[in-house]
Parts: sequence; structure tokens; C-alpha cells
Amino acid sequence: MTTVAEAATHRPAEAGPHTAFRIEREGDLAVIWFDLPGEKVNKFSSAVMTEFAGIVDQMERANDVKRIVLASGKPSIFIAGADVSEFSKATTPELAREYTRFGQQTFHRFSKLPQVKVAAINGACLGGGCEVAISCDWRVISDNPRAVIGLPETKLGIFPAWGGTTKLPRLIGLPAALDIILKGKSLDGRRAKKVGLVDEVVPGAILIDVAKQLTRRGKRHDSTRTKFYIEGNPLARSFIFSKARKAVMSETHGHYPAPLKAIEVMEAGMSSGVERGLEREVEEVAPLITGEVAQNLVRLFFLSEEAKKDRIAAQPREIASVGVLGAGVMGGGIAYIVADKTDAGLRMRDINWNALAGGLKAASKIWRKRVDRRRMTRGEMQRKLSRITTTTDWSGFQHADLVIEAVVENLDVKRKVLAEFESLAKEGAIFASNTSTLPITEIAANAKHPDRVVGMHFFNPVDRMPLVEVIRGAKTSDVSLVTVAAFARKLGKTVVICNDGPGFVVNRILGPYLNESGFLLEEGNSIESLDAAIVDFGMPMGPMALLDEVGIDVAAKVATILRERFGGRIQQSRVVEVLYADHRLGKKGGKGLYLYENGKRKTPDAAVYKLLGVATPHPVNANEAVDRMVLAMINEAALILDEKIVASAAEVDLAMIMGTGFPPFRGGLLRYADARGLPNVVARLDDLASRFGPRFTPTSPLRRLAERGGKFTQPA
Ligand code: NAD
Repeated sequence: MTTVAEAATHRPAEAGPHTAFRIEREGDLAVIWFDLPGEKVNKFSSAVMTEFAGIVDQMERANDVKRIVLASGKPSIFIAGADVSEFSKATTPELAREYTRFGQQTFHRFSKLPQVKVAAINGACLGGGCEVAISCDWRVISDNPRAVIGLPETKLGIFPAWGGTTKLPRLIGLPAALDIILKGKSLDGRRAKKVGLVDEVVPGAILIDVAKQLTRRGKRHDSTRTKFYIEGNPLARSFIFSKARKAVMSETHGHYPAPLKAIEVMEAGMSSGVERGLEREVEEVAPLITGEVAQNLVRLFFLSEEAKKDRIAAQPREIASVGVLGAGVMGGGIAYIVADKTDAGLRMRDINWNALAGGLKAASKIWRKRVDRRRMTRGEMQRKLSRITTTTDWSGFQHADLVIEAVVENLDVKRKVLAEFESLAKEGAIFASNTSTLPITEIAANAKHPDRVVGMHFFNPVDRMPLVEVIRGAKTSDVSLVTVAAFARKLGKTVVICNDGPGFVVNRILGPYLNESGFLLEEGNSIESLDAAIVDFGMPMGPMALLDEVGIDVAAKVATILRERFGGRIQQSRVVEVLYADHRLGKKGGKGLYLYENGKRKTPDAAVYKLLGVATPHPVNANEAVDRMVLAMINEAALILDEKIVASAAEVDLAMIMGTGFPPFRGGLLRYADARGLPNVVARLDDLASRFGPRFTPTSPLRRLAERGGKFTQPA
């Protein structure tokens, strides 16, 4: 075995500084092993890139090396990409250009080496990892499910600029490259092979041997000539690009510049050649790196990483057996995700068999979608489904280490099921309530073991919403808290730890927002224009559609609980109450603010205006309406922070993005407040209060922070 330094010279290795790369020689073959010391994953920081450039220098001179295999020394990770923490260091476009150009030119030189090069991909191969892999002649990937290859850059507000945007279309054709780059996709081996991104998929055990074999195939010759012929036709090409542009605009409303820039760069690369494409990559990506959207998305990336760690010094308990109480909308979803993501024994209880059948049906529907998309086999689905055993009594619950309660939102019922469970629970068993609004301390008021009662608030639909709020009641122990948090993470969720209080973080902040949408509606603004204004702002759906999704009955309950707990602090709109009295349930009942057919939203229901005494609805003044709804949330969030319901503004931002889809490009609710300037936010609230009433009066923590020139958040 030899080190980098000796590769070209054949002198024995001398002990040198720690290096990320090591070269192993076998005759005319050099295996370049990437194994970044002291890190779990391989990534390209500037220092690593400099070292890699040194390897390329050596290979340029190494006349006796004819074949190269690039491999990873980490288990299940090939190369995770660029070191994202370096983004925030590129404070000017000039620095960003330098940083980008160096990486890109290093990979470009690597791609032009005379040797035959093969990437042996044993695990995640993302971003810069994918770009160095496509600089090889051939790629072989392990069939390990963690071995995926792709370009997620647009998810961070940039696009691949170490050659990926220019070169991928030439390797796999324009449509497939657009699909990967614009959506920030990664593919498993099977799908990657199908589009031509890898050449072989093999068991991990023979990966390196196959890679070595592949070097004997010789240099790659362009095999995509047919695709090129079609796409080489400027008319066809411009049609494909214009379609892609339209799709991006309808998806992002123009809020995300990176995919649009990626299209421009690809156009340049396809019509003016690789070198020109590479230049454009550097020119176009630099302002994105230093721009606000990428900075916000990178901050979000770090917030999510941070949320994976426990800051509480306690050891989570092992959860081998889980009970779910209630098989309704939420219970069914929770049983699904526990069966899908863990090996825990699983029992679901409801008071009637119909509900249990409904819960199982909901779970199997989600799996079936995956079977239809060939992401899962029918056998796997059956195995997972059969793990959810059901009961109408308490049998089996004596084994549960964790019970997740999702029965109706009623304090007495919740206390009753808690008491029943405690009477048969095993020592140490934890009771986690999925309540939306009820304080955990109140649920646990009569508990034998209030230290083992925790809030575990999922969002609907459970399989798709990434957030779980984990709530500490007055007597909840650290062990219970970290156990539930660790279990939620095992389910693939982002955890935000909260202190107790009605509505916790997300529902409490959404309360004033939905309430304000009600006032706007009562004033005669049309349902569809209200929703359109918020969708334009960047939310995934408007407040009217959201009320229907959540269910008018659920919203009515939430509103009542928040009203009872907060007294008359916030004047409430009548909308939810009036709709509920008219037996409107929202989407699940076929009518709410909109009318539904087979679960599909159709048109706003004109009868709603009549109920509210609105004679002729009119389009909304979008700017003012958005300010009323969004600033109402900022005002409440300032209080939540002041009450220490949550530890930091960053966590409010994370919770709102993951729990409501608050636009990620804006960096979260409080980041948005900071970007507008807190004195401006306060002045606007004062103005709204003078016109619409005291519910807009800036809360004192917000006013104080603005007066002392403070900000809620720090930059990434
Ligand atoms: P749901 O009405 O769909 O389901 C509740 C289920 O609990 C019903 O099937 C009912 O039969 C069952 N049940 C009632 N008493 C029971 C008992 N003693 N033992 C076992 N089962 C019992 O309600 P849901 O929407 O699934 O909400 C459940 C909980 O989750 C509530 O606390 C709610 O606030 C909360 N939640 C709901 C949402 C949402 O969007 N629906 C989101 C987050 C949290």
C-alpha cells in the first residue's frame, strides 16, 4: 500500500500529514481511496479539493498508471458532496467564483486524464460526489439501498457547478438530466442504471473487483449519439427547455432562482460546448451562493442537522413494543409509520372494529402507492401490514414500552385512557399524547406516573409531514423526553422539543393566521383570492384550503381550546363556528369553504358567502392580506419565545417550515421578520391595529426587541 506522495515516484511511504486520499497500486492500476480522517462522511472542503488537485497532478505525470479506480474508505458513503459549511464563507461573488472555479477545473482536469477511470460507488454519491463520478469513464454502484446517486444542489438554492450541469445532459440526455438537476433528485442503483447514470449495479462485496474489471473496457465513447441527434436539433431542444421552464415556474412561482439558472446554463452548454457551459456555471452560480435564498436554505439544512442531536443529557430507552390508541386519521398514520420504519412490535386499539379496519385501510393505501411505483414489493407490503395487530380491548398493551395516544381531542377521554393504560402498563412504560392543543400537564394531572407522560405531536398526513413536536409537561422526566424524541427521529421525523402550553408551537402560531383569514373572508374577500395571495407568498396552500384539509370540526375544537386558554386576548372570527354549525366538515365531508368531489377540491362554495352575510365577494388586496395573516403569526411567535415554549427562534423557523410548509426560501417565519426589519414589522402592526383592532397590537417582547435594535435570528 502506498500513499499519495509516493504514487508517482514509487518511493516507499514516509509518515506525512493526515491525508484524505491514499493510493494503492497494482501494476498499471491505481486505486484512489477517499477516507476523510475524523469524519463520518467524505466531503469536498477546499482543503480536500486542494489535495485532490494534487492527486490529479500526480496522475497527469504518472505514465505507468493506465487505469484508475476511485473508491471510498467509508462504509455506506461514497462522497456526500461539497462541505456545505464553506458556503457561508463565500461572502462575495468573487470568492464564490474562485471557490467554484477551483473545484470545477480540478474535476475537469480529472475527467481529461489519459487513464481509464471508474468510480466504485458503495454508498451515497451526491452533489460534488456525483460530479466527480461523472468525470470518470464508467460507474459501478452497490445494490445496497443506501447507495444513491444524484445532484441535490437546487435544494440548497444553487445548482451543480463543478461541471454537473454542463456534463450530465451529455451523459444521460437532456430530459433525464433536467429531471435530476431541477428537482435535486437522487436515484438508487436500479433507477440510475435505467437512465444511464451508472453502468453496473452489483452486490457490495464484489464492487471493487467489478470496478477493476471495468477499467479494462477502455475509454468511454459517446454512446448517446441518438439522444444528441434529437436534442442537437435546436428546435426540439428549445421546446424541451421551455417546457422545463414552465414546470419550474408552476412549481416554485419564481421564488427559487437556481433551477431557472440551471436551465440557462444547460442551454449554453448544449449550444456552445462544454467549455462555455463550464464558464457559465461559474458566472451564474456565484451570485446564487451569496444570495438570500441559498443562505436561507443552507441555514435550514444546518437547523435540520442540529435537530438530530439531543441536547438533554439522558439516555433514551429501548423501544421494542409500541401501542397506538385510536385508529382514526392520526392513529392509522402513526401505526403505518411505526410499522414502516421500525421493527417494534405493534398493537393498535380503538373502541370499535370499523375504526380499526379504517386505520388498516389507510395504512395499506400508503404502502400500495409505493408498490405501484415499484418502490416496494407486494410481499414487503404484506409483511409490514401484518405487523399492525389490532384490538378493541387492552390485550397486548401490558408489553408496550411506548403508547402513542391519538384518541379524540377531549381532555376527559385522554385522562381516562391514560388511567386505563397505567393500570396495566409495565414498569417504565411511556405514554405519549398526540394532542394538538391540550396541555400535557393537564392530561397528566391525575396520572400515577406523570414523569412518563410526554407530548408527541405529529402532523397530518403523518407519512408526509416531517415534523414532530415533542413536549415536556411540568413533570415529564428527561428520560421520557429523550426516548420519545429518539423514537420520532427513528421514524424519520424532524424533532422540535417544546415546553408545555396550549397549541405548543405550530398550532398556536397558526391560530392567529387562520383567525385573520376568517376576518378577511367576513370582510368580503373571495375564498380563491385569499388562497392565491398566500400561495403567491410561497405557502403550499392557502388558509381556506388548509381549514378544509384540517377539518372544520378539528379547527373548531382547536379554536375553542385556544380561546378558553387565552381568554379574550385575541378576538375571534366567526367563520369556523358558522361553518361548523352548518354541518360543514371540510374535505372529508365533501364541503367546507370549497366543494369536493371524490376527495378532489372543486370550486369555492358560494353558499359560504351567504352564511356569512357577504353579498358580493371581491378579490383581495394581496399585500395587505398577506401582511395581516403573516404578521399576526410573527406577533404570536414573539410571545412563544418569551414564554420559553421553545428555546430559540431558529426552532420556531424549523417548526413552521416542517410543520406548515412556511416557504423555505424565506428561511422561516422569524427569519422573514428579521429580513423585513423588526422596526418595520412593529410599525406595520401598529398601523393594522389602528385600522382593524387591538389583536394586531405588537406584543411587548416584539416591541422590546425592535426597540433595542435586536433580531430574532442569526445568519447561517
Ligand atoms: P379521529 O376522530 O379521526 O380518531 C379518533 C379515534 O379515536 C376514533 O377512531 C375513535 O373511535 C377513537 N377513540 C375514541 N375513544 C377511544 C378510546 N377510549 N380508546 C381508543 N380509541 C378511542 O381523530 P384524529 O383526527 O385522528 O385525532 C386524534 C388525535 O390527534 C386528537 O387528539 C387530535 O387533536 C390529534 N391530532 C389531529 C390532527 C389532525 O389533523 N386530524 C393532527 C395532529 C394531531
